[in-house]
Amino acid sequence: MATLFTKIIQREIPADIVYEDDHVVAFRDIQPQAPVHVLIVPRQEITGLAELPDEGDHKYLLNAAKVIAEQLGLTGGYRVVINQGADAGQTVFHLHAHLLGGAPLGHFGVEE
Ligand code: 5GP
Repeated sequence: MATLFTKIIQREIPADIVYEDDHVVAFRDIQPQAPVHVLIVPRQEITGLAELPDEGDHKYLLNAAKVIAEQLGLTGGYRVVINQGADAGQTVFHLHAHLLGGAPLGHFGVEE
């Protein structure tokens, strides 16, 4: 069955898509944690970092993050996060990177 993010990529579920190329699609997070919060998703369905294949669309994630950050004017800096598994709070099991920016970002660490 297609993942939620594949359904967004295939335009079956609406999303605010900000970037796409042959390898990745990027759209704004439905519950943004920063003024800019974009999810960058490889077209290929990969469950997460722990299941990374040797080759595939995931190899283009970081380059896409750089390009999107430039396009969205994140000149002050930004953060790229990948949540892997339960301890990181991964909720969608289709590999994705969070691109966060648009304001100074707090530090992160262990939840109290
Ligand atoms: P994770 O916790 O797996 O690293 O991140 C999943 C992200 O997907 C969350 O930040 C959540 O807000 C976002 N999300 C979940 N469902 C949807 C949706 O239907 N549309 C969009 N645009 N984002 C979603």
